[in-house]
Amino acid sequence: MSIHGPYDPDNIFAKILRGEMPCAKIYEDSHIISFMDAFPQSKGHCLVLPKAPSRNLLETAPKDIGRLFGTVQRHVIAVKKALKPDGVIVTQFNGEAAGQTVFHTHVHIIPRFDGAAMSKHTGGQVADINALEILAAKIRTAL
Ligand code: AMP
Repeated sequence: MSIHGPYDPDNIFAKILRGEMPCAKIYEDSHIISFMDAFPQSKGHCLVLPKAPSRNLLETAPKDIGRLFGTVQRHVIAVKKALKPDGVIVTQFNGEAAGQTVFHTHVHIIPRFDGAAMSKHTGGQVADINALEILAAKIRTAL
């Protein structure tokens, strides 16, 4: 599949944005939403999305980029404060060939803890929603 293509309004993140699917929400304003990854690669794995529909970073409006990455940085700072990881990975995949599986632009924030294994991209187990809500609340408090 090409890196470009039509935006599918029925992708899972579009459904979350419309409130048709649940999520453990951390933050929302008129441009951005963030929530916990349902299949976390590590404890505290969360996602930050621009609300405006775009498949990937190549198709995100330049005016939305600064706000998106500013919000990502705020989340990294909050994750560090709330969960005290030893490191934090920030990733972002563009196109199926790069490993992207949900075609609404998003940035991954993945805390790393010394000695704790991390699962592969999209290799995580589904997490308990209550546990995700607790993590989301901790990160939200630290934002
Ligand atoms: P990517 O492969 O970069 O498109 O990442 C998509 C991410 O979305 C993966 O890390 C999945 O674990 C995550 N994911 C898939 N479905 C959901 C969902 N319903 N709620 C939260 N995260 C999800």
